Amino acid sequence: MKFFTILGVAAAFVVICAPETLAAPAATCPKTYTLLPTKGTTVASKAKITEKVLAQLNPKYDCKKIKVGDKLCVQAVGSKAPSSVQSSAAPKCFSWHTISSGESCWSISKDAGITQDNLVKYNPGLNCSTIQPGQKICTAISSAAPSKASTGPTTTPTAFHCTSYYSVKKNDTCWSIWTAFGQTEDKFMANNPGIQCKGLQLGQQVCVATAAGPAPSSASKSSSGATPTPTGKWGCTKLHAIGKDETCWAISQAAKLTLDTFLSYNPGLDCRFLNAGVNVCIAQGAGGSPPPPIPIYTCTKKGTFAITFDDGPYNFTDALLDYLDTQSLKVTFFINGKNFGNIYDYAKTLKKAFDRGHQIAHHTWSHANISTLNEAALRSEITQLEVALRKIIGCIPTYFRPPFGAYNADNLRVLGAMGYKVVVWDVDSEDWLVENLKKEQTNYQNAIKGTTPADSGHISLQHDPHKITSQQLAPWAVDYVKKLGYKVTTVGDCLGDSDPKNWYRP
Ligand SMILES: [Zn+2]
Repeated sequence: MKFFTILGVAAAFVVICAPETLAAPAATCPKTYTLLPTKGTTVASKAKITEKVLAQLNPKYDCKKIKVGDKLCVQAVGSKAPSSVQSSAAPKCFSWHTISSGESCWSISKDAGITQDNLVKYNPGLNCSTIQPGQKICTAISSAAPSKASTGPTTTPTAFHCTSYYSVKKNDTCWSIWTAFGQTEDKFMANNPGIQCKGLQLGQQVCVATAAGPAPSSASKSSSGATPTPTGKWGCTKLHAIGKDETCWAISQAAKLTLDTFLSYNPGLDCRFLNAGVNVCIAQGAGGSPPPPIPIYTCTKKGTFAITFDDGPYNFTDALLDYLDTQSLKVTFFINGKNFGNIYDYAKTLKKAFDRGHQIAHHTWSHANISTLNEAALRSEITQLEVALRKIIGCIPTYFRPPFGAYNADNLRVLGAMGYKVVVWDVDSEDWLVENLKKEQTNYQNAIKGTTPADSGHISLQHDPHKITSQQLAPWAVDYVKKLGYKVTTVGDCLGDSDPKNWYRP
């Protein structure tokens, strides 16, 4: 029952840098970071800079040769701490953002629906390697009165007028709209002055085509007839199977993409956890399809801790649920159909877990190693449990965990087509292996050593059919991570998918 993905490798320190020779930081580097034997976090996140900036600051580092004790430069020469307000921001700033702990230029620009280049453009003099919590930066500029910004189409006074509007649909972003209509970001932003990409409203009309000259007096948002639709379905047109030891940086370079663009093609991709053979998207276009799911190893919401229990329900699950109630906690159960017990014999327990608000997720019918199964066998493992879950809780999950953490690229394609997100873990109690509370506690402590609630979240693995786990490890783990300052929660919540409605479907 060995967990045999390359997590051991993936969880090591990951820095993104050019494959040159190992070199110490320049003597002029104002701030260095010494690599520690920790995992689950990166130098970049510790230093609150992007991995791109880290790579720029350490052009001669060879990722394959770095070791504990090496020093990396984490601050640009000549840079100094910025003032709390970016006073030199573009005068037409329409929307300000206050930087929170752990944010980077990349994450801020992504949240604001703009490119990092434009973020820098909106904030002249902005140094992304030294941004600090509390600092205010501009995320949108406007040439129109802000009051017009969020209602209906906006037009510029005289130079040109809008000839086509598009009605914002669910999951649209500024980026998806301008790419779907073949526009550049600059043109789109110019055509929609004051638009708040972060707060796009369903049904909001945005301008997707313009013509020279003043707007005709009769111009209104619907006068030009049918709303144009993007040509063909937009999606991924080219996949790349991650090679051994490849980094996000290397993949994006080889695909001639900026790191930001590559990441925008692969939402949810965590560059610390790249597994060989997993497909990532390296090109998008009309006629593409959604990329296969990228396995999730850790929480995206910092300070959250998703304690998960696999392989049940079984004899000890019921009492575990009562204990969790006394703590007012919700956790995640990855359920089997026939493993320690038969799910139909534990229907009451499962329904109780579901009714009390815990997240129920799929873990195959028989705890099969799906990396050894063909598509038909995998589909049968999935649907057999779906049938049982529909009978017992009335719905099926949207989250899946492969037994043993083992999967291949074809499994992911099938799971994606069947509507599943794939979740693994970054903390393994190894309760299934050792059956020894002391060792399990040590495994826990070692797995999260060096990380804090301020810089990380975690997904931990344990198994409720093991008596020690349900009766001793679970309460210990809850107390332990709470004392460290983490919020114990479900996998969905720790990934920012907090509404239980999203965890299930009919
Ligand atoms: Zn399992």
